[in-house]
Amino acid sequence: MGHVFRRSSGRSWMLRKRSMELWEEWIAQLKTKENPLIVNKPLIQLASSEKEASLMAKLFNDRQDLGLELLPPSRTIKSGRSWPENHYGGLISHQDGRINPIQLQQCLLHAIEKCNVHKICETVIRVDRLSSTKDRQWRLHLSDSTSLTKQIIIICAALGTEKLLNPLGYRFPIDPILGQVLKLELKTNDNDWSDWPAVLCYEGINLIPDGTNCLLMGATLEPGTYASSKALEQMKSMNGSAPDWIRHASIAEHWSGLRGRPANRTAPILQTLEPGLIIATGHYRNGILLAPVSAEWVAKEVMTTERESSI
Ligand SMILES: Cc1cc2nc3c(=O)[nH]c(=O)nc-3n(C[C@H](O)[C@H](O)[C@H](O)COP(=O)(O)OP(=O)(O)OC[C@H]3O[C@@H](n4cnc5c(N)ncnc54)[C@H](O)[C@@H]3O)c2cc1C
Repeated sequence: MGHVFRRSSGRSWMLRKRSMELWEEWIAQLKTKENPLIVNKPLIQLASSEKEASLMAKLFNDRQDLGLELLPPSRTIKSGRSWPENHYGGLISHQDGRINPIQLQQCLLHAIEKCNVHKICETVIRVDRLSSTKDRQWRLHLSDSTSLTKQIIIICAALGTEKLLNPLGYRFPIDPILGQVLKLELKTNDNDWSDWPAVLCYEGINLIPDGTNCLLMGATLEPGTYASSKALEQMKSMNGSAPDWIRHASIAEHWSGLRGRPANRTAPILQTLEPGLIIATGHYRNGILLAPVSAEWVAKEVMTTERESSI
C-alpha cells in the first residue's frame, strides 16, 4: 500500500514513494527460476463514508501518474464472488498489491547466500561500547557465550531493541501491536474470483484471494501481546458487513504476529546514534513495504561511517 498512502508530503510519504520505486529493482534482482517473484496487482480500497470517498478523490487527482483510478459508487463485480457493499466508491491502485511473503523470504535467503553472508543464529545478549575514540568498536555478546567485535553494527531487533540500547544510554521504547490473520475456506464452490483484485480493502480489513477456494483476511490491530477472540470475531464478520459467503466460511488457519510500533515518534526509526551504531527498526505496519528504502538508508549510513573513519 505505497501509492494509496493518504499524505502527500513529509518523511512517511517520501519513504513510501522511494520504496515503491526500489521494489521494482529488488524484484528484478531477487527473483529466481524456482521463485518467480511478482507483485499481484491491483489493490482496491472501498470507501466506507462520504468523507473517505472525498479523500480518495483528492488522492486520485494528485496521483494518476502513479496508477490510481477512481472506482464509482455502486460499481461492483459482474461475476464471481460478491464484494462487500460499495455505497461510496473507492480507489483502484494499479501499482499496489501483494507479494507472497514465503517466496520473498526464500528469494532473500538465496540472495544472501550468493553474497556469502555469514549467518549466526544466536541472540545478542548485550552490546558493549569499547572505546570513546573516533574508531569506536562494538562488542556483541551472544547467547552461546561467544562474542564479536565490530566497527559498525546495525540494530534491527524491533521489540528487542530497547533491551540492547538501554545499557548504552538510549531510550527507544517500542510497543507491541498484535495482529491476527485468518485463512478462510469457502463453503460455496459455485463462484470464483473473476473480477476480484489481488487485494480488496474494506474498513481496514484486507481480503486476499488465495487459491481457488480460500481467502486470507487480516489483520486485527490489538495493542499488547494478547490475541482477543472478540477482535477476531469482529474481523471475521467485517464489523457486521461481511457477505454471506464470508460469514459461512470455515477457518482453515489462524495465526498472529507482533508489530513493533515506536512510542512517541513516527515509524520507522532510522537513526545513526554515534559512529558505528545504526538503528533501523520499529517499522510497525509497513516493514515489508519499507524494507528497500530502509536498506538503502542503512547502506548510505554504513558508507558514510566508513568514509569518515578512513579520513
Ligand atoms: C499480521 C501482520 C500483518 C502485516 N502486514 C504487513 C503488510 O501487509 N505490509 C507490510 O509492509 N508490513 C506488514 N506487517 C508488518 C511487518 O511484518 C513488520 O513491519 C516487519 O516484520 C518488521 O520487520 P523487522 O525486521 O523490523 O522486525 P521483526 O519482523 O519484528 O524482526 C525483528 C527480529 O529481531 C530479532 N531479535 C530481537 N532481539 C534480538 C536480539 N537481542 N538478538 C538477535 N535477534 C533479535 C527477533 O527475533 C526478530 O526476528 C504485518 C505484521 C503483522 C503482524
